[in-house]
Amino acid sequence: MNIKELAIIGGGPAGLTAGLYAARAALDTVLFERGMPGGQAAATERIENYPGFPEGIDGPELSMKMSDQAQRFGCEFIYSGVDSLERDEKGFKITYGDEELLAKTVILATGAKPKFLGVKGEKEFHGRGVSYCATCDGAFFRDGTLAVIGGGDAAVEEAMFLTKFAAKVYIVHRRGELRATKVLQQRAFDNPKIEPVWHSVLEEVKGDQKVEGVIVKDVRSEEKQELKVDGVFIYVGTEANSDLLQNMVELDQSGYVIAQEDTATGIPGLFVVGDLRKKELRQVVTAAADGAVAVTQAEKYLSALK
Ligand code: NAP
Repeated sequence: MNIKELAIIGGGPAGLTAGLYAARAALDTVLFERGMPGGQAAATERIENYPGFPEGIDGPELSMKMSDQAQRFGCEFIYSGVDSLERDEKGFKITYGDEELLAKTVILATGAKPKFLGVKGEKEFHGRGVSYCATCDGAFFRDGTLAVIGGGDAAVEEAMFLTKFAAKVYIVHRRGELRATKVLQQRAFDNPKIEPVWHSVLEEVKGDQKVEGVIVKDVRSEEKQELKVDGVFIYVGTEANSDLLQNMVELDQSGYVIAQEDTATGIPGLFVVGDLRKKELRQVVTAAADGAVAVTQAEKYLSALK
């Protein structure tokens, strides 16, 4: 069986940084990525808070730069999802498709995905007006009216991006105050195309072949109103991609891994980085930091094995 010193699972900013550090540390490393490198950062239109880019940088461009940098130093990429991860006495058995690989250490960087709300019409109209990715689908709604659900950084940032195409964007938020960073809030309030709908939650997505409107409910009065919209973008937080771990390590209620700041888990040789790790601040910069920290821990672990 193919044996590697280190396998990194996931090619978002955390995994790609781990790939860069591991390659520069001359570890025999493989990085698994099932789609396009960059994870959620690659689906973000513009990133303004990653240092070194005073004008900001497009998410896909930053992702490709990180991927190129890891590969330039010799990190090997396998463009495949991982089907299972098992610990045995020799290390970690990784299966992907019909193939297997044994890694002495693993850095898990599988990140997070958008949460679904579970309201009527959400699933039925997914791809027909309901979306979780403004960068992917925003351009379909030129001159349309849109609703963005949520009040965090993602909702507000993506609502602003959508105003490039749409004539009007409602931000439907369950409280009377946004959770997003103040600078983003101010930009949203200054944007004439954005109209907040406060104290309101999404009750139903309506339409025939595609989305034609949403029913939102005021949580104080219980009053419902219909907003005529062509599309709905849902940004109500994320949940962890922790399926590979099954019962291996401790998870919180949303599936995030409870690991230490040094990224170590209860399983020797298994490190968890980026958005997958339970943490206060989920950003590209904190994901990248985790990737670097995990490699130094993996190196220590590997040298103790020798
Ligand atoms: P988030 O910060 O958890 O915000 C989720 C938003 O959805 C909150 O406003 C929340 O309302 C609302 N919400 C949650 N459940 C809901 C429900 N069932 N019904 C209605 N509304 C609901 O998630 P996020 O915006 O996706 O961001 C995820 C992480 O990525 C955060 O750490 C964020 O800072 C980071 N991020 C950063 C940037 C950036 O720095 N530019 C950009 C994107 C994401 P409440 O406010 O009432 O709880």
